[in-house]
Amino acid sequence: MKLLYCKKCDDVFRIYKEPRSCRCGKTKGKYLEDGLHAVYQGEGVPLGIGDGEFNRQISKFPFNASKGKNFDAWVTSVDSIRFQCVSDIDNEEEYKELLKAIRFVRSIHINSNYGRY
Ligand SMILES: [Zn+2]
Repeated sequence: MKLLYCKKCDDVFRIYKEPRSCRCGKTKGKYLEDGLHAVYQGEGVPLGIGDGEFNRQISKFPFNASKGKNFDAWVTSVDSIRFQCVSDIDNEEEYKELLKAIRFVRSIHINSNYGRY
């Protein structure tokens, strides 16, 4: 699950395929059409939550534990091809170029793995 943290207003919000923004409007983001990759713009910091452990902990709620339950969450690297910073999330031409680049990187990765066998 991908989320964004806005450094200006401290808001944290989940993204969807429809564009969303933080309370102050300085950070925006959305999933691309493939539902796997996402883009954001502005003052945001990309975050991730590991769906597997999160869903396991949620399924146990309510529970009695003095410290609650942990799950995996992280700040996404700026190098991540799955959550890219773009100049304007409403610029669809920029996504098309991004998706082409992602498919190209994937094809190189698949070809390099294929060569091992
Ligand atoms: Zn904000």
